[in-house]
Amino acid sequence: MRQSSLVVVANRLPIDDGLAPDGACEWRRSPGGLVGALHPLLQHTPATWVGWAGGTGPAPKLADIDGVRMHSVPLSREDVRDHYEGFANSTLWPLYHDAVEQPVYHRRWWDAYQRVNQRFAEAAAEVAEPGAVVWVQDYHLQLVPGLLRALRDDLRIGFFLHVPFPPPELFMQLPRRAELLLGMLGADLVGFQRAQAAHNFAQLATKVLQLPATDRRIAVGDRVVRIGAFPVSIDMSEMEALAARPDVARRARKLRGDLGDPQQVILSVDRMDYTKGIEQRLKAYSELLAGGHVKVRDTVLVQVAVPSRERVEQYQILRDRVEREVGRINGEFGRVGEMAIHYLTQPFDRAELAALYRIADVMAVTPLRDGMNLVAKEYVAARVDNTGALVLSEFAGSAAEFTQAYLVNPHDLEGLKLTLMQALQATPADIGERMRGMREHLRTHDIRAWARSYLTALDRTGDIANRLIAT
Ligand code: UDP
Repeated sequence: MRQSSLVVVANRLPIDDGLAPDGACEWRRSPGGLVGALHPLLQHTPATWVGWAGGTGPAPKLADIDGVRMHSVPLSREDVRDHYEGFANSTLWPLYHDAVEQPVYHRRWWDAYQRVNQRFAEAAAEVAEPGAVVWVQDYHLQLVPGLLRALRDDLRIGFFLHVPFPPPELFMQLPRRAELLLGMLGADLVGFQRAQAAHNFAQLATKVLQLPATDRRIAVGDRVVRIGAFPVSIDMSEMEALAARPDVARRARKLRGDLGDPQQVILSVDRMDYTKGIEQRLKAYSELLAGGHVKVRDTVLVQVAVPSRERVEQYQILRDRVEREVGRINGEFGRVGEMAIHYLTQPFDRAELAALYRIADVMAVTPLRDGMNLVAKEYVAARVDNTGALVLSEFAGSAAEFTQAYLVNPHDLEGLKLTLMQALQATPADIGERMRGMREHLRTHDIRAWARSYLTALDRTGDIANRLIAT
C-alpha cells in the first residue's frame, strides 16, 4: 500500500461518475471547490484522497487523477440508506440547518454512521505515512477524527465542517450528542465556516462533556484542540476567466435573447433543498407579480433547482410542492411566449453557469440557512464589470463576508419583496459600489487563501502550507 504525507478524507471522491445511488448529483465541484483549491498541493505531495466512489458493492480500484491517488471506500446499499440518506441527510442535515425540517432519529442509522465512519478511519490509517497530515471533511464523517486518533496517534488530524454548526438548544436534541462531539474532538484543529459555529461548539463541549473551553481552544485530557472560523471560498480567477471568455459572452447574449430580451433578469441557482428557501422566494415573487410591482414582459425569474437526495422523502415532497407552485404562477401570470418563471432542473456545467451569472441583473440567494453558499461567491466573481445586484440571506455563511450585498431575512416575506424591489430599482452607482467592495474582498479571500490559512493553523511546522504557497 502506497502511503502519503497528506490525506484528504471526504464522503465522496472528487470524480465525475454519475453513479450517485439516487441518480442525482451532489455537485461535482471540480475544477472549482475543494479539489481545485487543494490540487497543486495534493499533486506535489503526492496526496491520497479517501472517499466513496458512488456505487454500492466492492470498492473500485481507481487510477490516480492528475497525480492524486484515489482510495475508494465501499458502501453497501444499507450503508447508503442508513448512513448517507439516514443519519447524515435526515438527522444531521436538518438539525444543523435550524431544524427547518424535522430531524428524524433512528437507532439503526446511528449504528450505520458508526460503522461507516470506522471504515473511513481505517482506510485513512492505512494510507497515511508516519506523522502525516489527515484532513477530514464534513458532517458525514464527524466520528473519523476520534476513531483515527485511536488507531494512529502519530498523525496530525484536521476536521472541517462545511455546514452550519447549531446552537446548543438544537444540538442537545441529538440522542448521541456526546459521542459526536468527542469524535470531532479527536482532531487537532476543528474548523467551521463562521465564528458563531465555533462558539456553539465550545459551549457544547463544556455543557455536554464538562471540558474547559474558549472559542479558540478546548482542553481534552492532556491535549489541546484548537477551533476557529475558516470561511470556505471559490477559485475567483477561474470564474472570472470563464465569465470573460468570448464563447460565454456569446452564450449569455443568446440566453438573454431566448428569454425575450427582458429589461431585467432575476436568477436563482440552488440544489433542490428545503434549506434554500425556494418556496419563500417563489411566494414573494408571485406576490410581486400579483401586486403589479413586476411585469412578466419586463422582468423574468430564472430558477435553476437541480434535484438532489431524491430518495429522501422530504426532498420528494419539496420538489412536488415547488413544481406545483411554479406551474400555478406560470399559469396565472404567464402568456403565450412569456413565462413568468423559467424553471430548470437539469444540472449545468460551469461555462453555462457563468453565462447565466452574466445575464443576471439580480441574483437572489435566499436560503433559510446555509453553511456558506458558493453560488453567491461565484456570482460576484463572474461580474467582471462590477454590475449586478446580489440579494443575500442573512442566514448564509457568505453574508458574514458580503456585508455590501442587499441583505435580507428570507422568513420575512414583506422584507423579501422589498429587498428584491430595492435590488431591481437600485441605481448603477449603488450597485457598482457594492459589487466592487465584494469583489475586492473575494480577491483576497479565495479558495487558496482558505486552504492556506487552514493548513497553516493545522500544521505547526508550516511545511504543508509552504508547499501550497510555493506552487
Ligand atoms: N452547481 C453546478 N451546476 C448547477 C448548479 C450548481 O455545478 O447546475 C454548483 C455551483 O456552481 C456551486 C455548487 O454547485 O459551486 C453549489 O454550492 P453551494 O455552496 O451554493 O450549495 P450546496 O449545494 O453545497 O448546498
